Amino acid sequence: MTTDSEKQRLTASQAVDRRSLMRLGAAAAGAVALASCAKENPERETREGGGKGGPYDVAVIGAGYAGITAARDLAAKGWRVVVLEARPRIGGRTFTSEFLGRKVELGGSSVHWVQPHVFAEMQRYGFGFDEVPLYNLDASYIMTSDGTVHDVAPAAFDSLYSDAFNKFCANSRSLFPQPYKPFANPDVLKIDDTSAAAHIGTLGLDPLQRAALNSELVLYAGAPTSAFSYASFVKLFALASWDPFTFTDSEKHWHIANGGTAALAKAILDDSKADVRLGTVVKEVEQNDRGVILRTADGHTVEARAAIFTLPTKVYPDINFKPGLSAAKRAFIDNGEMCDGATMYMRVKKNLGNTFTFCDDPNPLNAIQTEEFNDEVGTILKATIGRQSLIDMNDQDAITAELRKIHPGVEVTDIAPYNWVKDPFSKQGWPSYKVGWFKKYKDMAKPENRLFFAGAATADGWHAYIDGAVESGIRACREVTEKLAREDTKNG
Ligand SMILES: Cc1cc2nc3c(=O)[nH]c(=O)nc-3n(C[C@H](O)[C@H](O)[C@H](O)COP(=O)(O)OP(=O)(O)OC[C@H]3O[C@@H](n4cnc5c(N)ncnc54)[C@H](O)[C@@H]3O)c2cc1C
Repeated sequence: MTTDSEKQRLTASQAVDRRSLMRLGAAAAGAVALASCAKENPERETREGGGKGGPYDVAVIGAGYAGITAARDLAAKGWRVVVLEARPRIGGRTFTSEFLGRKVELGGSSVHWVQPHVFAEMQRYGFGFDEVPLYNLDASYIMTSDGTVHDVAPAAFDSLYSDAFNKFCANSRSLFPQPYKPFANPDVLKIDDTSAAAHIGTLGLDPLQRAALNSELVLYAGAPTSAFSYASFVKLFALASWDPFTFTDSEKHWHIANGGTAALAKAILDDSKADVRLGTVVKEVEQNDRGVILRTADGHTVEARAAIFTLPTKVYPDINFKPGLSAAKRAFIDNGEMCDGATMYMRVKKNLGNTFTFCDDPNPLNAIQTEEFNDEVGTILKATIGRQSLIDMNDQDAITAELRKIHPGVEVTDIAPYNWVKDPFSKQGWPSYKVGWFKKYKDMAKPENRLFFAGAATADGWHAYIDGAVESGIRACREVTEKLAREDTKNG
């Protein structure tokens, strides 16, 4: 019997198209499709970075955006750096793949110029923006939680949703006067036990407004909104200058041009003198007064003076830390995050035009956005799913049945799902804080002697985004540099 995670690995070098999925057979079809970076760039499997080689000053665990940023910046400061990455590719929870001959983003995708860290990286390496259809809709729909679909004219959709969203975020400027210092207003600590659902309940919304707003928030929660920290979402809104148009524009309208997230990640790493070892799963880390010893699943040992862990919160329990991590960090790892979310693409034969649909929880396809439409292709849709456990993303019939509730009779010809929750190196979707745990995210970021911690969930700013990952990599580089420089000064 093949497990889901084995299926994901089995298909690791497949680009997504219906024919290859058919060849893999029904069991594997759509399990996942990874365009393997190792296959495309065999030299990357172990890359000597052209720097100083070992012995290493710093080992960076994970080559997502947090890890590659930290590795580049540390090596630029003259430290000897090695990156240990479990997957055969870099990019982590971003993943540019192919679907029917076009590039698609199966993980983190939307970026914006109000996200300063990722925008700076795009500027540094000359990447522009690709526009995704979002405005000038031909049709828009809201499915309420009981499965009833309402065809709401785009102007009315815009107005009812904006009104609900503005009410939800009304306190954002007073709660987050300095969004990068989330607790500048101590009242945030007092409301951290308020869930998004509880706050929605205070707003006096009509049923369609409630359904649209809850669909949006399920997408950030990756869980029922009754479990989701209201304050953590409002902080994200504050980062978009407390402006609803800018916030929506930042989350659904712009992708990275010229090769997407994979190309930007490659540009960052290519600019680094760090050594890189792909397919290297760290299983154990031991630290003492002199340094850290990392042991990998294939029996190798890597030594360094310090290590930066950049892992998704849910995979930390798979690593044996000696001595164990602090109680505060373990509590956050066990309780702080909960995202069951995922993304998928699908093609339908019919040209549906430019459409947008919100489906309220527990309907599974919470936001369905047209990415491409014309008479030749039909329609390419992207669905973002707050709770992948509500549907089998690999079951094309189930996906078709959901879509037919909105577009009766449509024929789905191809699907491209990626289940991040079943991927053993993420075990979750994007970062999302459980109610009551936003105030503790800093526990996850705190250094523990020679171990340092980055990753989007530790960011002060755009924690659910690529931007947060880059921000955290910059911060971890600074912390490690301060520690090693202090030691070097002390030791003459
Ligand atoms: C479906 C989805 C949609 C999203 N949409 C957006 C969006 O539109 N815009 C946006 O900005 N963000 C979005 N995000 C969030 C964004 O992708 C993440 O916040 C960001 O990529 C996280 O980067 P990271 O470096 O912190 O973690 P990761 O990218 O998860 O990197 C961690 C790395 O550690 C590696 N690793 C794990 N275990 C081990 C081990 N034992 N040994 C060695 N290596 C290990 C992993 O393979 C991975 O490469 C989305 C995420 C998902 C999943």
